[in-house]
Amino acid sequence: MLRKCRVKCIIKLVQKRIFLAISNIEKWGEQMSEQKQHNVREIGRRGFTLIELLVTISIMATLMSMLLPSLNRAREAGQRVVCQSNMRQLSLAWYMYAYDNSDRLCSADTLWNNPGYNWVADGEVIAGNNIGGTEDAIENGVLWWPYAGRSTDLFKCKTDGSELLRSYAISRTMNGKLCNCGDDNINPFRSLNEITRPAEKMVITDASSQGLWIEGSFSPVVDIEAESPVWYVRVNPDPVISRIITARHGEGCNISLADLHCEYWKYSDRRTVKLADWQEMFPAEASPGNVDLKRMVRLLRGIGQ
Ligand SMILES: [Zn+2]
Repeated sequence: MLRKCRVKCIIKLVQKRIFLAISNIEKWGEQMSEQKQHNVREIGRRGFTLIELLVTISIMATLMSMLLPSLNRAREAGQRVVCQSNMRQLSLAWYMYAYDNSDRLCSADTLWNNPGYNWVADGEVIAGNNIGGTEDAIENGVLWWPYAGRSTDLFKCKTDGSELLRSYAISRTMNGKLCNCGDDNINPFRSLNEITRPAEKMVITDASSQGLWIEGSFSPVVDIEAESPVWYVRVNPDPVISRIITARHGEGCNISLADLHCEYWKYSDRRTVKLADWQEMFPAEASPGNVDLKRMVRLLRGIGQ
């Protein structure tokens, strides 16, 4: 009997201790919750400290610096596709003009000296020429209407950040000069049916100029028949570089070829990129053993070349 009473007392004692412990835990929880709410209110009242702000800004700056190059590359890739679309439409316009004119190619030149069939008509680089580089120069060419659907935008590359309204040139090989003469030794095709290996002959290319427009047809090699060809950069007497290859599309450019396909050409030689960016690279330095130059020579070969 006495043993039973002791057991009951012990059980009651244990129960009391457990209730006490639970109530303590509940009180502690309430205190913690109040403290937490107080902290939140406190932070809300005082805002960020300077260090917290600086850490946040530096994290954001680091993230931006990591993301920006890939964003720029993505934007350029989009613009490259738009440029190829422009080139494809202009190449189709170039082809349709010839188709409608007994296979005769429009002139790749931009001067007035062969009126009626220049692809664009800027005129000569002389004082008093107020048409060169304007929309009129594009609209007076034979491609703008009806073949290019009156779209001046087709003549401008999105990646070209210059003031020029036209970012493209046509290869001199495509009816680009009046005679098969001159130092560049290019024998131009005059009609569609003369073009041999059309998939290897350049028609339209990204080009650039420091002047008011890209002057003349495109021929960036001094002599394509030379044993060791050299890049050619047209420099006006001013002196202004008026026609040069570009590397505006990720160290390369877009070109269209006479079979009407367009392609992106990424240069293989760093010297080509430097020359195209008008950095400190002269044609004589950029030429020896340059594989891009060798390809350019192949793209410029005309009749019997
Ligand atoms: Zn382009």
